[in-house]
Amino acid sequence: MPVLVVGSVALDSVETPFGKVDNVIGGSGTFFSASASLLSPVQLVGVVGNDYPMDQLEPLRKRGVDMAGLEQVDGESFRWRGRYRHDLNSAETLETRLGVFSHFSPKIPAQFKNAPFVFLANIDPRLQLDVLKQVQKPALVACDTMNFWIESRRPDIIELIKHVDLITLNDGEARQLTDCSNLVKAARWIMDRGPKIVIIKKGEHGAFMFKDKSIFFAPAYPLEDVFDPTGAGDSFAGGFMGYLAQTGDLSDANLRRAVVVGSAMGSFAVEKFSAQRLLEITRADIDARVAEFRRLVAFEDEGAAS
Ligand code: AMP
Repeated sequence: MPVLVVGSVALDSVETPFGKVDNVIGGSGTFFSASASLLSPVQLVGVVGNDYPMDQLEPLRKRGVDMAGLEQVDGESFRWRGRYRHDLNSAETLETRLGVFSHFSPKIPAQFKNAPFVFLANIDPRLQLDVLKQVQKPALVACDTMNFWIESRRPDIIELIKHVDLITLNDGEARQLTDCSNLVKAARWIMDRGPKIVIIKKGEHGAFMFKDKSIFFAPAYPLEDVFDPTGAGDSFAGGFMGYLAQTGDLSDANLRRAVVVGSAMGSFAVEKFSAQRLLEITRADIDARVAEFRRLVAFEDEGAAS
Protein backbone atom coordinates (compact mmCIF):
# COMPACT_ATOMS: atom_id res chain seq x y z
CA MET A 1 0.00 0.00 0.00
CA PRO A 2 1.30 3.50 -0.71
CA VAL A 3 2.33 6.16 1.82
CA LEU A 4 1.61 9.77 0.95
CA VAL A 5 4.12 12.24 2.38
CA VAL A 6 4.12 16.01 2.30
CA GLY A 7 7.30 17.66 3.50
CA SER A 8 10.25 19.86 2.75
CA VAL A 9 12.47 19.07 -0.23
CA ALA A 10 15.52 21.08 0.64
CA LEU A 11 19.10 21.99 0.00
CA ASP A 12 21.02 21.45 3.24
CA SER A 13 24.37 22.82 4.33
CA VAL A 14 25.61 20.87 7.30
CA GLU A 15 28.66 20.97 9.54
CA THR A 16 29.49 18.12 11.91
CA PRO A 17 32.71 17.35 13.82
CA PHE A 18 33.56 15.05 10.87
CA GLY A 19 33.09 17.31 7.89
CA LYS A 20 31.02 19.85 6.07
CA VAL A 21 28.75 19.81 3.00
CA ASP A 22 26.98 22.62 1.13
CA ASN A 23 23.66 22.53 -0.71
CA VAL A 24 23.19 18.78 -0.66
CA ILE A 25 19.76 17.21 -1.10
CA GLY A 26 17.80 17.10 2.13
CA GLY A 27 14.46 18.00 3.64
CA SER A 28 11.94 16.10 5.70
CA GLY A 29 10.04 14.86 2.62
CA THR A 30 13.24 13.72 0.92
CA PHE A 31 14.66 11.75 3.87
CA PHE A 32 11.25 10.23 4.58
CA SER A 33 10.87 9.13 0.95
CA ALA A 34 14.40 7.73 0.72
CA SER A 35 13.69 5.61 3.79
CA ALA A 36 10.05 4.54 3.25
CA SER A 37 10.58 3.64 -0.41
CA LEU A 38 12.69 0.66 0.66
CA LEU A 39 9.52 -0.80 2.15
CA SER A 40 6.49 0.50 0.25
CA PRO A 41 5.50 2.78 -2.66
CA VAL A 42 5.75 6.49 -1.75
CA GLN A 43 3.82 9.49 -3.09
CA LEU A 44 5.73 12.72 -2.45
CA VAL A 45 4.12 16.18 -2.30
CA GLY A 46 6.26 19.29 -1.99
CA VAL A 47 7.81 22.18 -3.86
CA VAL A 48 11.28 23.10 -5.10
CA GLY A 49 12.63 26.16 -6.87
CA ASN A 50 14.14 26.25 -10.33
CA ASP A 51 17.60 26.00 -8.71
CA TYR A 52 16.97 22.43 -7.48
CA PRO A 53 19.22 19.64 -8.85
CA MET A 54 16.30 17.44 -9.98
CA ASP A 55 18.68 14.78 -11.35
CA GLN A 56 19.72 14.02 -7.76
CA LEU A 57 16.16 12.93 -6.99
CA GLU A 58 16.30 10.38 -9.82
CA PRO A 59 17.42 7.51 -7.51
CA LEU A 60 14.25 8.11 -5.50
CA ARG A 61 12.07 7.93 -8.59
CA LYS A 62 13.81 4.68 -9.60
CA ARG A 63 12.96 3.28 -6.20
CA GLY A 64 9.24 3.91 -6.66
CA VAL A 65 8.76 7.42 -5.29
CA ASP A 66 5.93 8.96 -7.33
CA MET A 67 6.77 12.66 -7.76
CA ALA A 68 3.54 13.75 -9.45
CA GLY A 69 2.95 15.98 -6.41
CA LEU A 70 6.38 17.63 -6.43
CA GLU A 71 6.04 21.06 -8.03
CA GLN A 72 8.95 23.01 -9.44
CA VAL A 73 8.27 26.76 -9.49
CA ASP A 74 10.21 29.99 -10.04
CA GLY A 75 12.25 31.02 -7.02
CA GLU A 76 14.74 29.63 -4.51
CA SER A 77 14.42 26.17 -3.02
CA PHE A 78 14.00 25.77 0.74
CA ARG A 79 17.42 25.93 2.37
CA TRP A 80 18.49 24.82 5.83
CA ARG A 81 21.91 25.34 7.36
CA GLY A 82 22.77 23.54 10.56
CA ARG A 83 25.64 22.52 12.77
CA TYR A 84 26.23 19.70 15.20
CA ARG A 85 28.90 19.97 17.84
CA HIS A 86 30.04 17.06 19.96
CA ASP A 87 26.53 16.34 21.19
CA LEU A 88 25.22 14.87 17.96
CA ASN A 89 21.72 14.62 19.42
CA SER A 90 20.86 18.26 18.87
CA ALA A 91 21.15 20.31 15.72
CA GLU A 92 21.84 24.00 15.93
CA THR A 93 19.92 25.76 13.16
CA LEU A 94 22.10 28.50 11.68
CA GLU A 95 19.71 29.55 8.92
CA THR A 96 16.29 28.61 7.55
CA ARG A 97 15.30 30.09 4.19
CA LEU A 98 11.77 29.11 3.26
CA GLY A 99 12.09 30.31 -0.36
CA VAL A 100 9.32 28.80 -2.49
CA PHE A 101 7.77 27.24 0.63
CA SER A 102 6.57 30.65 1.80
CA HIS A 103 3.93 30.78 -0.98
CA PHE A 104 3.33 27.07 -1.31
CA SER A 105 -0.18 25.71 -1.29
CA PRO A 106 -0.08 21.90 -1.54
CA LYS A 107 -2.28 20.38 -4.22
CA ILE A 108 -2.74 16.67 -3.73
CA PRO A 109 -3.01 14.94 -7.13
CA ALA A 110 -6.33 13.09 -7.57
CA GLN A 111 -4.57 9.71 -7.70
CA PHE A 112 -2.96 10.35 -4.25
CA LYS A 113 -6.12 11.40 -2.40
CA ASN A 114 -7.08 7.97 -1.13
CA ALA A 115 -3.63 6.95 0.12
CA PRO A 116 -4.20 4.69 3.15
CA PHE A 117 -1.15 6.00 5.03
CA VAL A 118 -0.39 9.72 5.26
CA PHE A 119 2.68 11.32 6.80
CA LEU A 120 2.72 15.07 7.36
CA ALA A 121 6.47 15.54 7.61
CA ASN A 122 8.01 18.59 9.23
CA ILE A 123 6.77 21.71 7.42
CA ASP A 124 4.53 24.65 8.28
CA PRO A 125 1.61 23.17 10.27
CA ARG A 126 -0.81 25.30 8.20
CA LEU A 127 0.31 23.34 5.13
CA GLN A 128 -0.01 20.08 7.06
CA LEU A 129 -3.63 21.02 7.89
CA ASP A 130 -4.27 21.96 4.25
CA VAL A 131 -3.20 18.49 3.14
CA LEU A 132 -5.50 16.81 5.63
CA LYS A 133 -8.46 18.67 4.15
CA GLN A 134 -7.69 17.14 0.74
CA VAL A 135 -7.30 13.44 1.59
CA GLN A 136 -10.01 10.84 2.05
CA LYS A 137 -10.14 8.92 5.33
CA PRO A 138 -6.66 7.36 5.53
CA ALA A 139 -6.19 4.33 7.78
CA LEU A 140 -3.44 6.22 9.63
CA VAL A 141 -2.39 9.88 9.62
CA ALA A 142 0.86 10.79 11.36
CA CYS A 143 2.70 14.08 11.69
CA ASP A 144 6.04 15.47 12.78
CA THR A 145 7.14 18.99 13.68
CA MET A 146 10.14 20.84 15.11
CA ASN A 147 11.19 23.71 17.40
CA PHE A 148 11.08 26.25 14.52
CA TRP A 149 7.31 25.67 14.10
CA ILE A 150 6.57 25.18 17.81
CA GLU A 151 8.01 28.67 18.39
CA SER A 152 6.25 30.38 15.49
CA ARG A 153 3.01 28.42 14.94
CA ARG A 154 2.06 26.70 18.20
CA PRO A 155 -1.74 27.31 17.90
CA ASP A 156 -1.70 25.71 14.43
CA ILE A 157 0.13 22.66 15.80
CA ILE A 158 -2.45 22.32 18.59
CA GLU A 159 -5.18 22.44 15.92
CA LEU A 160 -3.33 19.95 13.72
CA ILE A 161 -2.90 17.33 16.43
CA LYS A 162 -6.68 17.19 16.95
CA HIS A 163 -6.83 15.55 13.51
CA VAL A 164 -3.91 13.09 13.51
CA ASP A 165 -3.66 9.53 14.85
CA LEU A 166 0.03 9.70 15.66
CA ILE A 167 2.77 12.27 16.22
CA THR A 168 6.54 11.83 16.25
CA LEU A 169 8.67 14.34 18.16
CA ASN A 170 12.08 14.36 19.74
CA ASP A 171 12.34 14.77 23.49
CA GLY A 172 13.23 18.49 23.36
CA GLU A 173 10.31 19.23 21.05
CA ALA A 174 7.90 17.25 23.25
CA ARG A 175 8.98 19.28 26.28
CA GLN A 176 8.76 22.54 24.36
CA LEU A 177 5.29 21.80 22.96
CA THR A 178 3.77 20.63 26.23
CA ASP A 179 5.74 22.54 28.84
CA CYS A 180 6.14 19.23 30.73
CA SER A 181 9.68 18.22 31.57
CA ASN A 182 8.63 14.61 32.27
CA LEU A 183 8.23 12.73 28.99
CA VAL A 184 5.48 10.40 30.22
CA LYS A 185 3.46 13.45 31.24
CA ALA A 186 4.32 15.18 27.96
CA ALA A 187 3.01 12.18 26.00
CA ARG A 188 -0.18 12.15 28.10
CA TRP A 189 -0.62 15.91 27.47
CA ILE A 190 -0.44 15.29 23.73
CA MET A 191 -2.73 12.24 23.79
CA ASP A 192 -5.34 14.31 25.67
CA ARG A 193 -5.40 16.65 22.65
CA GLY A 194 -5.92 14.16 19.83
CA PRO A 195 -3.26 11.60 18.80
CA LYS A 196 -3.83 8.05 20.05
CA ILE A 197 -0.14 7.28 19.61
CA VAL A 198 2.85 9.44 20.53
CA ILE A 199 6.40 8.54 19.59
CA ILE A 200 9.13 10.44 21.44
CA LYS A 201 12.62 9.99 20.01
CA LYS A 202 15.70 10.47 22.12
CA GLY A 203 18.40 10.38 19.46
CA GLU A 204 21.15 7.93 20.36
CA HIS A 205 19.13 6.90 23.43
CA GLY A 206 16.28 5.31 21.46
CA ALA A 207 12.58 5.98 21.12
CA PHE A 208 9.43 5.57 23.23
CA MET A 209 6.01 4.79 21.80
CA PHE A 210 3.06 5.69 24.02
CA LYS A 211 -0.36 4.22 23.20
CA ASP A 212 -3.25 4.12 25.68
CA LYS A 213 -1.64 2.99 28.92
CA SER A 214 1.18 1.05 27.25
CA ILE A 215 4.73 2.22 26.70
CA PHE A 216 7.16 0.54 24.32
CA PHE A 217 10.86 1.37 24.11
CA ALA A 218 13.32 0.58 21.34
CA PRO A 219 17.02 1.44 21.66
CA ALA A 220 18.92 3.25 18.96
CA TYR A 221 21.44 1.06 17.19
CA PRO A 222 24.82 1.62 18.90
CA LEU A 223 26.90 2.76 15.92
CA GLU A 224 30.61 3.27 16.40
CA ASP A 225 30.66 6.17 13.93
CA VAL A 226 27.82 8.64 13.61
CA PHE A 227 28.73 10.89 10.75
CA ASP A 228 25.80 13.27 10.24
CA PRO A 229 22.58 13.04 12.28
CA THR A 230 20.57 15.15 9.81
CA GLY A 231 17.48 13.31 8.64
CA ALA A 232 17.54 10.62 11.34
CA GLY A 233 14.06 11.60 12.54
CA ASP A 234 12.54 11.65 9.06
CA SER A 235 14.21 8.35 8.21
CA PHE A 236 12.84 6.85 11.42
CA ALA A 237 9.37 8.02 10.38
CA GLY A 238 9.92 6.62 6.86
CA GLY A 239 10.86 3.21 8.22
CA PHE A 240 7.96 3.22 10.67
CA MET A 241 5.29 4.28 8.15
CA GLY A 242 6.80 2.29 5.28
CA TYR A 243 6.68 -0.89 7.36
CA LEU A 244 3.06 -0.28 8.37
CA ALA A 245 2.10 0.39 4.76
CA GLN A 246 3.94 -2.70 3.56
CA THR A 247 2.24 -4.97 6.11
CA GLY A 248 -1.11 -3.13 6.30
CA ASP A 249 -1.30 -4.24 9.94
CA LEU A 250 -2.03 -1.71 12.71
CA SER A 251 -2.03 -4.19 15.61
CA ASP A 252 -0.07 -3.30 18.74
CA ALA A 253 2.52 -5.99 18.00
CA ASN A 254 3.08 -4.66 14.49
CA LEU A 255 3.31 -1.04 15.69
CA ARG A 256 6.14 -2.21 17.95
CA ARG A 257 7.89 -3.93 15.06
CA ALA A 258 7.49 -0.71 13.05
CA VAL A 259 9.28 1.27 15.78
CA VAL A 260 12.24 -1.11 15.49
CA VAL A 261 12.30 -0.78 11.69
CA GLY A 262 12.16 3.01 12.19
CA SER A 263 15.14 2.85 14.56
CA ALA A 264 17.04 0.73 12.03
CA MET A 265 16.37 3.28 9.25
CA GLY A 266 17.42 6.18 11.48
CA SER A 267 20.69 4.38 12.16
CA PHE A 268 21.45 4.03 8.43
CA ALA A 269 20.68 7.70 7.74
CA VAL A 270 23.38 8.96 10.11
CA GLU A 271 26.19 6.85 8.64
CA LYS A 272 26.86 9.32 5.79
CA PHE A 273 26.01 12.87 4.77
CA SER A 274 22.67 13.71 3.13
CA ALA A 275 20.54 10.74 1.99
CA GLN A 276 23.62 8.95 0.60
CA ARG A 277 23.53 5.87 2.83
CA LEU A 278 19.76 5.43 2.52
CA LEU A 279 20.17 5.32 -1.24
CA GLU A 280 22.85 2.61 -1.06
CA ILE A 281 21.17 0.08 1.19
CA THR A 282 18.81 -2.72 0.25
CA ARG A 283 16.03 -4.60 1.96
CA ALA A 284 18.57 -7.25 3.01
CA ASP A 285 20.58 -4.60 4.93
CA ILE A 286 17.42 -3.59 6.79
CA ASP A 287 16.59 -7.18 7.68
CA ALA A 288 20.14 -7.75 8.93
CA ARG A 289 20.02 -4.65 11.13
CA VAL A 290 16.61 -5.53 12.54
CA ALA A 291 18.07 -8.94 13.46
CA GLU A 292 20.90 -7.13 15.26
CA PHE A 293 18.30 -5.14 17.21
CA ARG A 294 16.74 -8.41 18.31
CA ARG A 295 20.10 -9.66 19.59
CA LEU A 296 20.77 -6.30 21.25
CA VAL A 297 17.77 -6.54 23.55
CA ALA A 298 17.46 -10.32 24.00
CA PHE A 299 18.15 -11.76 27.43
CA GLU A 300 17.04 -14.78 29.38
CA ASP A 301 15.10 -14.21 32.56
CA GLU A 302 16.19 -16.97 34.94
CA GLY A 303 13.87 -15.74 37.63
CA ALA A 304 16.58 -13.92 39.57
CA ALA A 305 14.21 -11.14 40.55
CA SER A 306 11.21 -13.31 41.39
P1 AMP B 1 15.67 15.66 11.06
O1 AMP B 1 15.13 14.33 10.64
O2 AMP B 1 14.88 16.22 12.19
O3 AMP B 1 17.15 15.66 11.28
O4 AMP B 1 15.37 16.65 9.83
C1 AMP B 1 16.36 17.21 9.02
C2 AMP B 1 15.77 17.88 7.80
O5 AMP B 1 14.78 18.84 8.17
C3 AMP B 1 16.82 18.65 7.02
O6 AMP B 1 17.10 17.97 5.83
C4 AMP B 1 16.19 20.03 6.76
O7 AMP B 1 16.21 20.41 5.41
C5 AMP B 1 14.78 19.89 7.25
N1 AMP B 1 14.31 21.10 7.96
C6 AMP B 1 15.02 21.88 8.81
N2 AMP B 1 14.27 22.90 9.28
C7 AMP B 1 13.04 22.77 8.70
C8 AMP B 1 11.81 23.50 8.78
N3 AMP B 1 11.70 24.59 9.55
N4 AMP B 1 10.74 23.05 8.07
C9 AMP B 1 10.86 21.95 7.30
N5 AMP B 1 11.98 21.22 7.16
C10 AMP B 1 13.06 21.59 7.86
